Amino acid sequence: MNTTLRDWHARARDITPDGRAVIGGKRVNSASGETFACQSPIDGRTLTPVARGQQADVDAAVRAARAAFDDGRWANRAPASRKKVLLAFAEKILAAKDELALLETLDMGKPIRYSLSVDVPAAARCIAWYGEAIDKVYDEIAPAPKTALALITREPMGVIGAIVPWNYPMLMASWKLGPALAAGNSVVLKPSEKSPLTAMRLAELALEAGLPEGVFNVVPGYGHEAGEALALHAGVDAIGFTGSTRTGRKMLEYAARSNLKRVYNELGGKSAFIVFADFDDLGRAATTAAGSMFFNQGESCNAPSRVFVHESVADDFVKAVAAEAAKYEPRDPLDAATEMGAIVDETQLRTVLGYIDAGRSDGARLAAGGRQVRNESGGFFVEPTLFDQVRNDMKIAREEIFGPVMSVIRFKSEDEAIALANDSTYGLQASVWSSNINRAHRVARHLRAGTVHVNQYDEDDITVPFGGFKQSGNGRDKSLHAFDKYTELKTTWIRIDAA
Ligand code: NAD
Repeated sequence: MNTTLRDWHARARDITPDGRAVIGGKRVNSASGETFACQSPIDGRTLTPVARGQQADVDAAVRAARAAFDDGRWANRAPASRKKVLLAFAEKILAAKDELALLETLDMGKPIRYSLSVDVPAAARCIAWYGEAIDKVYDEIAPAPKTALALITREPMGVIGAIVPWNYPMLMASWKLGPALAAGNSVVLKPSEKSPLTAMRLAELALEAGLPEGVFNVVPGYGHEAGEALALHAGVDAIGFTGSTRTGRKMLEYAARSNLKRVYNELGGKSAFIVFADFDDLGRAATTAAGSMFFNQGESCNAPSRVFVHESVADDFVKAVAAEAAKYEPRDPLDAATEMGAIVDETQLRTVLGYIDAGRSDGARLAAGGRQVRNESGGFFVEPTLFDQVRNDMKIAREEIFGPVMSVIRFKSEDEAIALANDSTYGLQASVWSSNINRAHRVARHLRAGTVHVNQYDEDDITVPFGGFKQSGNGRDKSLHAFDKYTELKTTWIRIDAA
């Protein structure tokens, strides 16, 4: 049966989320007893007080994670046994899909249709995929002389600190949890203070699925408190971080100041989307650019926020995107028909509006949107916004906005397009649109980005690595490559005597 708008509103009214941390398998208040208010960007109401994790809470969580790791209650299990638990965990996520989707939508403002159709199933698939993988990956034997055997094996690292952002709260957590848990590590997860609720539910579901106590802990709290305490902790072996480049820089400092823990940073982006005049379906290029930019309210690290269009087709392209933008007019996120929801909080709303002002004052032409809307809701909504006549040196083309704002930059030649696309401190994703196969491959090879799309932008899957060049980060989430982050390689030499 389809859930109606009225049903979702009724459930939203009745839901009573639990804001306590999960440490050592138990729901607990913060050691200080302090909380912070978790507010919904949909209507501004307080959803629940949330435990304000600080040093003492992080200490307790790391102690629990270390004890679980050291006694081998999870790490020493056969891979097939860990697989069974992770598959059960994924099933629990799917079984709780309505509750998790509602929490995600209320907490960060994305439309319920996408919490249900993207966030929940993708999180479950990620956990299941690493569960499935772990009893199928083999170690290596080196080509050693006859007098020796050299084994190259992977071992779990120990305690992983996972610090994640608010834009895809459950999914970003799952990209860390899947490979880290499958490999046998213990995890302390610090969700964003702007969207902490689903993280704690995930930990409860993992316990119900049979994950031993202490293996997966969640300490909610502010970045400068719980986040900093976790990243500086001497008992943490690696940090899997996803967030802004500014905070990623701090992660490296914290590691340098503490125990040189491994730091894996998945950071910001300013992805280039290059449309050549020879591409035979300008309408599809425009629809895809709009869809990828305005999806998730533009709060996606890989959103194609810099769109380079050959000057001969730029007017038509801008017209097509402006027409498309109407579809993304923000509406009630609990309405199943809504395509674009609320911006995560008032601070982010002010940031986005500030960039729109900067675009105007720097001389870009506003071709669609640009205003805050739905003010009467008490929530934070911004129109899908399109700037034309942007230059690559303008603030809106240099800095990550993390809101529904697209910049169109016109170019004259292939070389100029490549140079402009690569002229960014970021290198997360890029795309090239051309019907000339040589040009498409040539440009794709020149683009300095972790993922390059050709004549599409939407394709994605857990099977491929995700991460960036340059200041978009290091290491990769997803695919078997993610195991590199959460395992140490060990070489074991064994002498074999002659008969
Ligand atoms: P953010 O850097 O402000 O916060 C991310 C996390 O770090 C949060 O949990 C926060 O509490 C914590 N944090 C903040 N300051 C901290 C500190 N001093 N010490 C320790 N922890 C701290 O980022 P955000 O605003 O939550 O997320 C948006 C950013 O995430 C964007 O830049 C986006 O591009 C990036 N992102 C990247 C990817 C990727 O895979 N590359 C995916 C999603 C989001």
